[in-house]
Amino acid sequence: MSTAKTFFITGVSSGFGHALARAAIEAGHRVIGTLRNEKDRQRFEVEYLSRPGQAHGVLLDVTDFDAVPRIVAEVEQKIGPVDVLVNNAGYGHEGIFEESGMDELKRQFDVNVFGAVAMMKAFVPYMRQRRRGHLINITSMGGFITMPGIAFYCGSKFALEGISETLHKELQGFNIAVTAVAPGSFRTDWAGRSMTRSPRSIADYDELFEPIRESRMARSGKQPGDPAKAAQAILKLVQSAHPPAHLLLGSDALGLVRGKLEQFDASLTEWEALTRSTDG
Ligand code: NAP
Repeated sequence: MSTAKTFFITGVSSGFGHALARAAIEAGHRVIGTLRNEKDRQRFEVEYLSRPGQAHGVLLDVTDFDAVPRIVAEVEQKIGPVDVLVNNAGYGHEGIFEESGMDELKRQFDVNVFGAVAMMKAFVPYMRQRRRGHLINITSMGGFITMPGIAFYCGSKFALEGISETLHKELQGFNIAVTAVAPGSFRTDWAGRSMTRSPRSIADYDELFEPIRESRMARSGKQPGDPAKAAQAILKLVQSAHPPAHLLLGSDALGLVRGKLEQFDASLTEWEALTRSTDG
């Protein structure tokens, strides 16, 4: 197809990354996908043996910050210019703030924020020289709304939303689009094998948090969102002449984020006089 693009997608072993890689390849695009072990890398390439040259598996943990620029340079030189970077690799940490360690916070930001930033820092110079490209950061509705027990995850996704929106403004003059894609709840491995859960230790939080933890575990695999439909939506986004800085995926995300914005606006109005009182 004439509009075929080259995608670089982090984390294509399961969930959104796997679904997007499949949809992009089936639509005629070329995909370089990252995986964290050789078995998964081979499985990814074998899956698309019938489409030679369209699927390239690359071994990468996005927290290997030294490896990122080298791998990106190799991909650009040996496979070809990348049109679309999708920072998809990420995971959720679940735990009450007081019960969660600094090591867990650091790991959450290493993967969800610094990993994505490392990828963008490596690709932006190539895209800027070409005056062409699209950076897509998979954030979350948790990058707008919060709930007890996922402070570190929300913090990481708020951070990525902020970096992404700023970069959108810095790069639009170079014809490089930046979109933060914020999904609601989807049927991936996010709340299953991928989630890290801090052990419980403070009974004071039982009443607040136990129902949240139990309900998230019970809903895993039954969430409303279909990753294959998210993949089709992202392909539409990539074809758009004017991609937005933010895109929500899923009616749950839409309802919750709209609700938050209304509450926020009401709070701004309630406190407006005090806010204005500091001028002059
Ligand atoms: P998933 O099925 O668990 O997929 C996560 C992918 O990220 C896997 O391929 C995983 O590789 C990879 N990954 C994790 N840590 C990595 C690292 N350090 N380096 C490289 N790859 C790494 O879950 P998912 O829902 O598709 O997650 C994709 C993104 O969507 C995440 O950023 C997540 O926060 C976001 N998200 C998900 C939902 C949802 O409801 N599912 C909602 C909002 C946002 P391995 O197989 O090696 O672990």
